[in-house]
Amino acid sequence: MASLKKETPVNERENDTCHCPICLEKVRKPKYLSCYHTFCEACIETYISSTATHKENETLLKSIECPVCRTCIKAPRNDISNEEWASELPQNKLVLSVSVDPEQDENKYCMFCKRLEKTVTAKYWCKACMEAICEDCKLLHRAAPILQNHKIVNLSNIKEMNNEVEIEESCNLHKGKILDVFCHDHQELCCSVCHVKQHKLCKHVDTVEDIAFETDRNAMKNIALKYADLEKVLEDMLLENLNKTEKLIIRKHEICMNTDKKVEEIKSLLDNAYAKWLKRFEQNHADSIGNIEIASDELKRFSTTVHEVRMILHSVLKCGSSKQLVITNHKLKKQISAHITR
Ligand SMILES: [Zn+2]
Ligand SMILES: [Zn+2]
Ligand SMILES: [Zn+2]
Ligand SMILES: [Zn+2]
Ligand SMILES: [Zn+2]
Ligand SMILES: [Zn+2]
Repeated sequence: MASLKKETPVNERENDTCHCPICLEKVRKPKYLSCYHTFCEACIETYISSTATHKENETLLKSIECPVCRTCIKAPRNDISNEEWASELPQNKLVLSVSVDPEQDENKYCMFCKRLEKTVTAKYWCKACMEAICEDCKLLHRAAPILQNHKIVNLSNIKEMNNEVEIEESCNLHKGKILDVFCHDHQELCCSVCHVKQHKLCKHVDTVEDIAFETDRNAMKNIALKYADLEKVLEDMLLENLNKTEKLIIRKHEICMNTDKKVEEIKSLLDNAYAKWLKRFEQNHADSIGNIEIASDELKRFSTTVHEVRMILHSVLKCGSSKQLVITNHKLKKQISAHITR
């Protein structure tokens, strides 16, 4: 495993250009938030417009959450427009300088001259100004003491342009001041003003230049390798999660299918049982009604016989002899008992 890791083509990763986490394209006009996440200016402006919120209390500054790390980022002022907010964000000069594209329209003409409303083809790139310049403005760099140290390279020499990049990072708190001191006690990069104001009593403060002198590039390369490993681990974990989700979806489908099948089976069993019960119930019902009808019929006949018997007995009593009465009574009794037997 360890030997495998050493073979990871980290160089390929080193050459990866910086991509905007919002549009996923090569970042254009890179701007960074205070959490150091970098986005295209246009992308972060759109993001601010759609997500910036005012807290209930209007006196609090409006804010956004960083789209990557969710850190709360406050607007510099409350009356600032979303466009101003995006354009006032600091430029990520490092990202800008490692991704300079001489073919891009804004690098075709000298920026110095453009400010004087002149259009002059640019031939060079000043690594400190981060701008394309013309022949004359290259000479101007030599003449002005403040510009003399700027590294100027040929715009056509991409290799040289991407070499020995050195950006003078400016302090976010103190305009125009360069971050050139590191306080070990606070683990913070500071400008000369920060140093005097907040780190005067700190014991371990070095200039960035001194630290750079002692920095072991190989150790840094190892750190880069570690980050590449970490990225791989995270990619693997994400892939694993994706697989888990996929498996869960398949399992859900299976469970639903099986349950549906079982429910259908139970339904059909219930339907059958109901149909059988209904059939038997209807039969029993019809039988009961039939029996009652038969009994009623018999009762009607019996009732007729009783009526007749009563009428005959009545007339014999009225005009028959006693002997006739005995005979008739016997006959009638037999008629009645025949019914009772039935
Ligand atoms: Zn973007
Ligand atoms: Zn962030
Ligand atoms: Zn010029
Ligand atoms: Zn310059
Ligand atoms: Zn400062
Ligand atoms: Zn300090």
